[in-house]
Amino acid sequence: MLRDIKADLAIIGDGVAALALAYLAAQRDIRTVMLGKNFHGTTHSATGLIAPRPDYLLADEELVRRTAFECLRWIRLFYPQILSPQRFLIPIGPELPYSVRTFRTLLSRYDEIAKIRSTGLGSHYIINQANLEKMEPNLRKSDIDGAISFGEWTVDPSILLKKLGWETSVYPDLVKKFHISDFREFKIRNGMIEEIRALDAGHKAINISNNRGPLVVVNATGPWMKDVCARLGVVMEYQLKAGVQIEVPGYFFQSGIVTFDSDGKYLVCLQKKGILQVGPTNTDFSGHPDNFIPSDRETEYLTAALRNILGDKRLSPYSFLKHGFRIKPTAIDTNRPVIWNHGNAGLHNLYSLHPGKMALALLAGDEMLDRAISDGWLSKPRVVVTNRLYLDGNRKWFNEAKLLLLKIWALFKMGLFYLKFISKTP
Ligand SMILES: Cc1cc2nc3c(=O)[nH]c(=O)nc-3n(C[C@H](O)[C@H](O)[C@H](O)COP(=O)(O)OP(=O)(O)OC[C@H]3O[C@@H](n4cnc5c(N)ncnc54)[C@H](O)[C@@H]3O)c2cc1C
Repeated sequence: MLRDIKADLAIIGDGVAALALAYLAAQRDIRTVMLGKNFHGTTHSATGLIAPRPDYLLADEELVRRTAFECLRWIRLFYPQILSPQRFLIPIGPELPYSVRTFRTLLSRYDEIAKIRSTGLGSHYIINQANLEKMEPNLRKSDIDGAISFGEWTVDPSILLKKLGWETSVYPDLVKKFHISDFREFKIRNGMIEEIRALDAGHKAINISNNRGPLVVVNATGPWMKDVCARLGVVMEYQLKAGVQIEVPGYFFQSGIVTFDSDGKYLVCLQKKGILQVGPTNTDFSGHPDNFIPSDRETEYLTAALRNILGDKRLSPYSFLKHGFRIKPTAIDTNRPVIWNHGNAGLHNLYSLHPGKMALALLAGDEMLDRAISDGWLSKPRVVVTNRLYLDGNRKWFNEAKLLLLKIWALFKMGLFYLKFISKTP
């Protein structure tokens, strides 16, 4: 059976960028179709920080400030259900790439700039050696002189995806989601994608077009963006950095631990139920994302970093947990959301969207919609939103009529009372 779907916006992908965009589009009353594939993307491999990150301060202070605000948006949406505040410790030992004073200066500025998201997190502080030993008895005791403590918000990325998925399900008339097995055809006319033809997971045909105006097509397929563009004859440039995480069975730490390798690269140890997640790595990868195989070198590098901070160096057999890819646009070095418009390649209504990081997916979605509006493809949000449930149960006229009847009845009763009263007065 052919499904002929009318939509204003077609989103290709189903990671955090795609879901956040669909969620925001539904709030603006935009008919949206999401076409995902049934495999895990990078979001599933994220560490799980919803954080502005102090290490971004030197490169882009404005981004840190804005990300703090974005954290607040996530908190308002999903705290306390799936977001939790987490304490992180940076052990003060020889692996610190900078002096404690430098870290404190950086974190003081961070506390100030990222304050807006810090309810429940507090400011950074120093923990002395004796207290650290009590708090984290599994850390090595020799040459660790205490720790710098700071707070961040964390989330399980897979649960964040599920939750965003549910949020979009609240708008069944506006957001339609499909898992596709492949595209069949993109119908292009006058430099515009007019129709997308795809096969769903059960190999049934789906046709997507817009009966009101031009269709906006957003490619939010993360590391696979080049593939979708290539299918349309568009060349896209970015580099991939592979990030691997491992899991080690056991309970090691109460807090998250941030440690550094010999090159000064940070690694996060995040305690979960029964396992410790350690990572990520960050290595250049020039191949296709489907062909990435984590090497023993990467897992050994992560276990070596963990062994280094542990008192007891023996570890239970660890295993590879997950991997993902950071996207580095070649045109500009940034961690901000990036929107590519492929008008130069002849497809004016095609965009590719990368959020920069999971924490910025809502910002990326808003910026994408604003861009599509300013390019003239989508109309400005209408003030009247249909099917919204109001406090009066959407029965304004019925309630007003009922109120009028009650008022008439009250007047009638008052009249009766008055008549009885005057008939009894001598
Ligand atoms: C190791 C690592 C750790 C990270 N940790 C953090 C962190 O702690 N906090 C943070 O904020 N950010 C973090 N990031 C960054 C963050 O994970 C990414 O920026 C974000 O997840 C990218 O989301 P996305 O939706 O663009 O891509 P993805 O999550 O990769 O989604 C793309 C989706 O597209 C689908 N797809 C692929 N091809 C097709 C196709 N042809 N048709 C339809 N669908 C298709 C895939 O199935 C996939 O689900 C981390 C990144 C890495 C690599």
